[in-house]
Amino acid sequence: MKEAGRRGSTKGFSQLAILSLALLFCLPQPVSGGTTSIQMDVRPGVSSTHVKYATYAINDVIRFFSDNYRIALRKKLRIILVPDEKEYAAVLGKDFGYPPGDAQKLSKTTGGMARDGQVEYVFAAKARKNASMDIFMHTACHEIIHWYQYTAGGNKSAQLKWLLEGTADLIGYHIVDANIKGAMEKFRRKTWEKIKSAPAVPSLRELYSRRDWLAAMDRYGGGVVYGKAFLAVTELAQRKGINAVFNYFLNLKTYPVPVAFERAFGMNLHNFERFIDQKIRK
Ligand SMILES: [Zn+2]
Repeated sequence: MKEAGRRGSTKGFSQLAILSLALLFCLPQPVSGGTTSIQMDVRPGVSSTHVKYATYAINDVIRFFSDNYRIALRKKLRIILVPDEKEYAAVLGKDFGYPPGDAQKLSKTTGGMARDGQVEYVFAAKARKNASMDIFMHTACHEIIHWYQYTAGGNKSAQLKWLLEGTADLIGYHIVDANIKGAMEKFRRKTWEKIKSAPAVPSLRELYSRRDWLAAMDRYGGGVVYGKAFLAVTELAQRKGINAVFNYFLNLKTYPVPVAFERAFGMNLHNFERFIDQKIRK
């Protein structure tokens, strides 16, 4: 899940099939070794620039994990790009199974949504006309990165939701930054501003489960919740390097959460959380 994006509706598949075929040929330097099939489902009203940046996102994320961790994307990937909130809400209902009320709400508070199925990994992203391209590309990266996290760590990956979301944000901006210079710094600056002007900021302990996370989004606002997670993971990356962050998810295959954390970052999870709560607060 990714905070703030938008789109909507159910038709236009034949047109999309043609586009997605074309995109298969456009993807620059496809990664070898994977059995990836990528389908880009572009709803009417989405610009070709958005499609281009979504394509960069897919390729760059695939390459990042292939180069650094030798992990290939092994699932069919379907990407639904929608032009507005209305279309996004419709997709959240039809493709993600949310009841209408939830779909409406999530269409406003999230920019992208992913679902890991038996045969395909689907994600939807809002590609609004006026949204800046770094934010849009980041949303696309973020949702694909979640697949790698779950592939590495299984369901345990979601036990520390702040680390799951913060990592997807950090690696996502690391990748966007290579295409749009200064994107990471701009996001970090805006995040600090958001945190400083917020009436309250959650502790990391309030951001463990998916349920915690959704409750915190309601209470503190999506920007503050994602922002806190992003800044916490940024701190980890500054101490141990960006590769250590994903090593945590790889460690989950063998170890329980606190041990996986300690092995990846060389420190106690709760001590780190206390440190960050002191550092990032009102
Ligand atoms: Zn997410």
